[in-house]
Amino acid sequence: MFKRTALSVALLSVTAAANADVLTTIKPLGFIASAITDGVTETKVLLPTSASPHDYSLKPSDVEKLKSANLVVWVGEEMEAFLEKSVDNLSKEKVLTLGDVEDIKHIVEHAKEEKEDHHDHDHKHEHKHDHKHEHNHSHGHDHHHDHDEDWHIWLSPVASEKIAEQIAMRLSQHMPEQKAKIEENLASFKVALNVKSTEIAKQFTNVKEKGYYTFHDAYGYFEKAYGLNSLGSFTINPTIAPGAKTLNTIKKSIAKNKAICLFAEPQFTPKVIESLSKGTSAKVGQLDPLGAKVELGKDAYPQFLQSLADQFSECLGK
Ligand SMILES: [Zn+2]
Repeated sequence: MFKRTALSVALLSVTAAANADVLTTIKPLGFIASAITDGVTETKVLLPTSASPHDYSLKPSDVEKLKSANLVVWVGEEMEAFLEKSVDNLSKEKVLTLGDVEDIKHIVEHAKEEKEDHHDHDHKHEHKHDHKHEHNHSHGHDHHHDHDEDWHIWLSPVASEKIAEQIAMRLSQHMPEQKAKIEENLASFKVALNVKSTEIAKQFTNVKEKGYYTFHDAYGYFEKAYGLNSLGSFTINPTIAPGAKTLNTIKKSIAKNKAICLFAEPQFTPKVIESLSKGTSAKVGQLDPLGAKVELGKDAYPQFLQSLADQFSECLGK
């Protein structure tokens, strides 16, 4: 009840409140934004959760939504190439490109360097880590982006805190009279995120050593934050089918009982996962990197992290 009252008051007191909303491309960015806009303005999400940002095409109604939003939040052209042209047509002050934020670029760059170090290491010891070696060789197949850069930044608790800060800062510029409430929301977001991270780390105590493959290379930040044991992924870009070498490596890994789980995603249902799991010990799990079942709201982002954690432990913990 209180929430509803606060929202009505906010709407009444803000001029042109109708178009003072925040529009995010993907739902997890909406989870972060809705914590910041709680009791201030509305958060909307552009993409349906059945769609992947890797292969989405804008509809005419999407273009209208982009025009009417007060603040558009997107990762950037590396993740959402479909939006590049439309964003160019919007005024700069209403667009927040997360890929242009120094703190976030730094996180992505740092992860890339770590990956490169790891690849160098693999080349020297390929008999031990041949899955990573293979993974490295599949890089040339897609020309859309730099594959060593991981732009799934909404799966990084550290980056998400930066994202929240950026949204709060930009929203305060648009709605200076709401600055105090926005700051309060940001502080609450950070506390809730820390509490959730501690809980998830505890939850993973017994599954940390268990190896698995993910359908696409999206979970690096989450895995690193909470110490999971990923053996690799089927593809780097989910729109590209895995190669024969990758499949062979995965088959061998399953046979040696190294891989306990193969994780599919609701956005993509590859037959290859089902066929790989047939007649082997590997189980098939589901990971939803876009949080289809989580509703927007001030606790949405911690809930999203929890849902992902549960999806990991449900399969790995069996
Ligand atoms: Zn992805």
